[in-house]
This record gives sequence, structure tokens and C-alpha cells, in this order.
Amino acid sequence: LFVDQPLSCDQMAEIDGNAAHYLANVMRLKEGAPVKLFDDRSGEYLAHVISAAKRKVSLAITEKLREREAVPDLWLVQALVKKDRLDWIAEKSCELGIARFVPVLTNRCVVDKAKDDRLRSQMIEASEQCERTALPEIAQLTKLDALLASWPPERILFFCDERGGDNFAASVKDNAGPAALIIGPEGGFTDQENAAIRAHPNARAVSLGPRILRADTAAVTAISAWMAQAPG
Ligand code: SAM
Repeated sequence: LFVDQPLSCDQMAEIDGNAAHYLANVMRLKEGAPVKLFDDRSGEYLAHVISAAKRKVSLAITEKLREREAVPDLWLVQALVKKDRLDWIAEKSCELGIARFVPVLTNRCVVDKAKDDRLRSQMIEASEQCERTALPEIAQLTKLDALLASWPPERILFFCDERGGDNFAASVKDNAGPAALIIGPEGGFTDQENAAIRAHPNARAVSLGPRILRADTAAVTAISAWMAQAPG
């Protein structure tokens, strides 16, 4: 369970809100029940329920189980897609292990907003489910041209392009180090956007195969393929 407060051994953790409801009413945890907590700062801890009321659960932290994990240095730059699909991409990309989620606005996006708190909730739930001890960072929504203009020079940008590109697995092997994947919206990138990304000095156009994948399929495919090829 994620707790938004610094945790350490031999201290109490007070849980309220939805998390307390989940522990007390859904899981029906009683005094003495063990719960794993993580704070996205120092790691994961074992705690035991001291008291569980409907709106407040008190726990005693007894043991540190793990340090905060080091996450592979992969960012997902995802053009905004419809809300439920964006939620799905946020959840799956978190489970698959990205370090940072970068929402980007492009000409063919059918929506122009993404709620940070909604994305964060998806990331928290997914992290709890897959037992990540480090939440992915969520970047502010940026327009594509601004993103390209401020791109960090040390990070390669794999441009997933259904129109064709290098073999993705081979390209990842040849380009170790900090990386990002960029995936377009439902309608793809415009010709101008495609040209602008390809012209960027850090970009490598890559193919995920001969079929046109939906944006959500492309995102999970590319992340999985990168994770399978990246060293370490
Ligand atoms: N322009 C397209 C169209 O409407 O026919 C499709 C865009 S596709 C649904 C959404 C995004 O998924 C693309 O912008 C691209 O980033 C990624 N994508 C889909 N299929 C891909 C493939 N075979 N290789 C690499 N990227 C792909």
C-alpha cells in the first residue's frame, strides 16, 4: 500500500481516506494483521494493524523489507488518447517498469487535457498491484514542438513509426543508456510532426512490425521489447 509520508521502522503510520476504507472495510483487516507499506522515498516496510476504524487505520511499522528499487531508465512519451485508453496505458506502462510518463499534445489528439491526479492514481494502484516500490514520475503535459526543443541531449528517443523504421530490438541493443519511446495518438502523427521527430538529432525511427497497432498496443509492445533488450 502506498503511503504519502516518509516511513521508518518503529514509527506509526496513520492511514485515512480511500486507503483506510480499503483496509478496514474491503480487506476487513483486524488488529495484528500484517500490511506492506511503501512511501516512494525510502522503500518498503512491514507494518501491523493497531486499530482499524472505518475512516482511520493505525499501523505500527516493524521492519524494513526492501530499499526503494532502481527503475530502468525508460520514459514513455505518449500522445494523449481517449481517457480510458490513457488510463490503461498509464497502468500497463507502470507495471512494465517505466521510470517516467510524459504526456504530449499533438495535432491529431482528440482530447487536450490529462488530469495529473487521475494519472497518479492509476500509477499508485498499478504500483501496489505489481509491488513496485518507486512510482513513475509524471511529467507535465507538453506540446510536441516544445518537447522536442527541450529534449535532454543524453537521452535517445525511439520514434515508434508505423510507416517504417529500423528493427526495434537491434536498435535498442545498439543504443544502450537513457531512453524514451514516443507513441502517437489514435490518428497517428501528421506528416509535419513525423518529419520533425525524424529530424531531431536524438531520434531513431523504429518499427514494431508490419501491422498498424493501436496506440495502446504499440505502447505496451514497445516497452516490453525495450525491457527485454536493454542491458541490466
Ligand atoms: N496513422 C495511423 C492511422 O491512423 O492509420 C495509425 C496510428 S497508430 C493507431 C498510433 C501510434 O502507434 C502511431 O503513431 C505509432 O507511434 C504507433 N504504432 C502503431 N503501429 C506501429 C508499428 N507497426 N510500428 C511502430 N509504431 C507503431
